[in-house]
This record gives sequence, structure tokens and C-alpha cells, in this order.
Amino acid sequence: MNIHEYQAKELLKSYGVRIQEGVVADSPETALKAAKKLNAETGTSWYVIKAQIHAGGRGKGKVKETGSNGVVLAKKLEEVPEKAKNILGGTLVTIQTGAEGKKVNKILVAEDVYYPGHSEPKEYYLSILLDRAKGCNVIMASTEGGMDIEEVAEKHPEKIIKEWVDPKVGLQGFQARKVAFKLGLEGNAFKEMVKFITALYNAYIGSDASQFEINPVLKTSDDKILAVDAKVNLDDNALFRHQDLAELRDLAEEDPLEVEAGKSDLNYVKLDGNVGCMVNGAGLAMATMDMIKLSGGEPANFLDVGGGANAVTVEAGFRIILQDPNVKAILINVFGGIVRCDRIANGVVEAYKSIENIPVPIIVRLQGTNAEEGAKIIDESGLKVSSAITLKEAAEKVRAAITS
Ligand code: GDP
Ligand code: MN
Repeated sequence: MNIHEYQAKELLKSYGVRIQEGVVADSPETALKAAKKLNAETGTSWYVIKAQIHAGGRGKGKVKETGSNGVVLAKKLEEVPEKAKNILGGTLVTIQTGAEGKKVNKILVAEDVYYPGHSEPKEYYLSILLDRAKGCNVIMASTEGGMDIEEVAEKHPEKIIKEWVDPKVGLQGFQARKVAFKLGLEGNAFKEMVKFITALYNAYIGSDASQFEINPVLKTSDDKILAVDAKVNLDDNALFRHQDLAELRDLAEEDPLEVEAGKSDLNYVKLDGNVGCMVNGAGLAMATMDMIKLSGGEPANFLDVGGGANAVTVEAGFRIILQDPNVKAILINVFGGIVRCDRIANGVVEAYKSIENIPVPIIVRLQGTNAEEGAKIIDESGLKVSSAITLKEAAEKVRAAITS
């Protein structure tokens, strides 16, 4: 689960990670109030207004309606409401949102931390994630902060510092010092970075996160180290242990069909293709998607209805697939193991009858216990549903359906 920057910064702060302070707002008026509060608390007289969407690249991104960037600087208090207005309610398009962009419902009004001083502020990159190949967490750091890290990794792999953490003993002090040293820091900034990395790692473990990306981490002109941006991804499977974090979920940022599928306990992922599919078991679902591709179609979704598929889950799956306007055919591929194929066939027929006007052909492939009986029920139902027993047969029927 992704959370917003302002939520991520609160989480980091609660673990002692220094952050660029900010106050969230949802209107030009509350933005002004937020700026006044920041001025009183931090003394800042410049304000950074940041669109809160679940995507990066906001600084260079543009709001379609107004042309404003997704991150802007206001050098006067009076400029805050106007600049906030140019972002709020607009559609922000960044390299990560796709051309359709994302609607901005909230902004973060933050203190300016790039103020002048005895040295230039400098941006770094820090992330923590699971290295699956090594079976442990890895801290990645770079002096090339504020930039597209994928590009740095490709062109200058030597500029990416990696430190692997042994899960049995956790992050050791020398490891945090090693990263800070390799980043070229010294004096107070070095100490601050060690503290920053240590607190960040504690936050990562404590929140059962699956990815932290802080880009940029800033060394201010007075040698403080703080998080200017924060991308936090939490492990869905551990959210039951963090009720407070689970509540940070923003459904407006998620695909509406995926949200609806979640309510029916369906594992659904929306894709761009033209063949909807409904399968029991994730492995079979992936194999089915391959088969759709081989037959000349493109999967419109991934949908695993789970081991105990029945008429209710099949109907819920149908309804979700049918809401996708790109779907030209639906393929149901179910293995009757625990559930018998004749019962699934009855479920499909029932679900079909309960939904009016299904506009697309449906191909049902049932295999396993009572497969023949299942196929018979489908074929004799008189509905626009055709049955297939083998994968090859199913593929041919899908091909015929999308090319007709
Ligand atoms: P992203 O573009 O979505 O990754 O958003 P970031 O939070 O990383 O912000 C984008 C850029 O805004 C940063 O790289 C900075 O250059 C700039 N920025 C952020 N905070 C401040 C600030 O306090 N003062 C100034 N002058 N610029 C800032
Ligand atoms: Mn960033």
C-alpha cells in the first residue's frame, strides 16, 4: 500500500527521522493558515507547495488546467493561496502518472529548507528495500540526489552505494557510518547522516514497509540532514499489525475496479487488454493470461477468484470485468479440484442469468472433477456461453471471439 508524502513524513518523524516540516491543506484558505502556522513554528518565510498524489516527478510535472508545476515555491505569504489554487483540484501529469494524470485533492505546504548559509544545500538519495536475491534488506544511497535514480543506476552504477543488512542482527552502527562516509560527509553532517539512516531503518522495520525512497535527502546549508520527499510503500500482508497505518489508505488514488474487487475478496489487477479472464488460482491465472496472448488477444485483467469459487464470487467477478469497456470476450478457466466442475458450471449459468445484457461472448473452460458434466450444463443452458475442455480449444474460441 502506498501512502502520501505528508503521511510518510509523519511516520518518519515519529521514529525520529528529521523531515522538512509541513502542514497539509485542501483549499487556498487552509493553505494560507498552514503557511502562517509554519511561519510561527519554524520561522520560515518561504513556502513550498506540493501536490499530494501517489506518484513522483511532481516537481517537473504540470497541472493540465493551469500549467502550474506540481511543486512550487512561494516567496511571500500572500502568494500562497493563489499558488495553492493553481494546483488544487487540477489534474497533475508527471512521468509517473501517464498522460491522463492524477487529480490533486490535497497539497502539503512545507517550510523552505534550501535557504542560504555557510555552504550550498546538497541533495542525496537514500532508499531501503528488500533484496530478494540476497534475502535481506538493502540500503541504497547516492550523492546524485534529486535526479532520476534509474538513470544514475544505468549510466553511473558506481555512484550507487549499497549496504546489505543481516536480518539476524539488524543494522549495525558501522554500516550507517560506512554509508555516510561513502557519501563524502564529515563533521556534524556526517553525524546527522548516521542518525538519519539509523532512524530511517528503524522506521522501515517498525512499520513493516516494503520500500522507502527518500529523494532528495537534503544537507542544509547549516549541516542538518532531512527528508525533503518521502515515498513509502507498506507491506499489505502486515497491515493487520498496524491499524493506524492501514487507515492512511487513500481509495481515491486506487483503480476503482480494484477497490470494488477487494470488497468481494477477489484478487483483481486491471490491465489494458481486450480479453477479460476469471480463473481460480494465481498460477493458473498467469498461465491463462499467457494463453490469451498466444491466441492473439491481450488480457484485460488478472483475476483470481480463489480456491472456493461459487456462484457469488463468479457473479462478482463477472460484474467487475463487464465494467471494463475494453473487454471483447471473457474467458473463464477453472480447475475443479476442491469445487466440482458441475457446481461451477451451475454458478456460471446462475451468474449469467442474474446480469442483464451481457454484451460479449463468454468461453468457459472447466477441467478436473466432473468436467464433462460441467461442459454439458453450459452447452445445454441456451445462453451465449460456449464451453471448452482443453486449453487449445479455449484458445481457438477466444481467437474466434475477438476476430469476429
Ligand atoms: P518530486 O518531484 O515528486 O520527486 O517531489 P520532491 O518532493 O522531490 O520535490 C521536487 C523538487 O522541489 C526538489 O528536488 C527540490 O528541488 C524542490 N524543493 C523541495 N523542497 C524545497 C524547498 O524547501 N526549497 C526549494 N527552493 N526547493 C524545494
Ligand atoms: Mn522526489
